[in-house]
Amino acid sequence: MSAPNKSYDPVEVEALKPEEIDRARDEALAAIAAAADLDALREVKAAHAGDRSPLALANREIGALPPHAKAEAGKRVGQARGAVNKALQARREELEAERDERVLAEETVDVTLPHDRLPAGARHPLTTLSERIEDVFVAMGYEVAEGPEVETEWFNFDALNIAPDHPARTMQDTFFVRGRDGGEDSGVVLRTHTSPVQIRSLLDRELPVYVVCPGRVFRTDELDATHTPVFTQVELLAVDEGLTMADLKGTLDHMARALFGEDMKTRLRPSYFPFTEPSAEMDMVCFVCHGESVGNADRPCRTCSSEGWIELGGCGMVNPRVLTACGVDPERYSGFAFGFGIERMLMFRHNVEDMRDMVEGDVRFTRPFGMEI
Ligand SMILES: [Zn+2]
Repeated sequence: MSAPNKSYDPVEVEALKPEEIDRARDEALAAIAAAADLDALREVKAAHAGDRSPLALANREIGALPPHAKAEAGKRVGQARGAVNKALQARREELEAERDERVLAEETVDVTLPHDRLPAGARHPLTTLSERIEDVFVAMGYEVAEGPEVETEWFNFDALNIAPDHPARTMQDTFFVRGRDGGEDSGVVLRTHTSPVQIRSLLDRELPVYVVCPGRVFRTDELDATHTPVFTQVELLAVDEGLTMADLKGTLDHMARALFGEDMKTRLRPSYFPFTEPSAEMDMVCFVCHGESVGNADRPCRTCSSEGWIELGGCGMVNPRVLTACGVDPERYSGFAFGFGIERMLMFRHNVEDMRDMVEGDVRFTRPFGMEI
């Protein structure tokens, strides 16, 4: 900034020359008109109307002018700055109006659109099948009983007449839980069947006992098309006075008809389980070929391998040793038990070919079973 000087002539000062003032004003007005949005306009304002803008710098020079020259220079610069500020104001209002209009258009809410497009969840077919089976037995007066998945060896094996040297107790089949000391003989296992719930039911309840026990069980199998280390069983147990194999057969027939249709037939084949005596495997007529594939090479059946029967599960009369272990007098009471895997039933009831589909959680597998909630 120059010092006051009587001979100072504004026309001689570069920044205050009229053509310089006009040029600075015109540049500012052109930049303002070209500003496309409010951010750009802010930059234009800083450059052409800010403290370091040409017109602001020219304004400062006025103070150094001799008094007679101040008025004219002040008027010229003031008018130029006024024009710039007015143009800035007008352009800002214009851009703000444009912005408001755009935001209104972008944020318009269409109240006719569905508000929630997330699909509703549904239960897994294993769950719905398990509950359907429970319903069959609840309708016959059975009670649903559940128990822990981590179980003591006594409940899982000993009470069920499975001796310590029984193959089912070896490391190949059973998940043993390590003790707190890291030892493997903690006496705790992941239950290998739902049978311990039968023992708990006999110990907890007054006789007679009629229970259906659904639940997850664990075996040391690899996950493949026909095996899974975690699967679902449903067992039933009836202990009352005077129960016989005929009661067991009638109960199983009723269940098979309730689940697979009125014309369903079952048969029992002799078998062995430590906790039942006598024991049997229960088969039912193949619901795909109804036995017509047997000996008929023209109509082979994949579901039953053309045998006409499908194995459903194991059953039998409760071994008197099991009753004794639970404090039940085998001279007065008898009972029957039946157990089977839900996964297997789901496989042949719905032609599921790969067990892995049931555990992988892919909704493309579960969706066709329907949306039961
Ligand atoms: Zn068949």
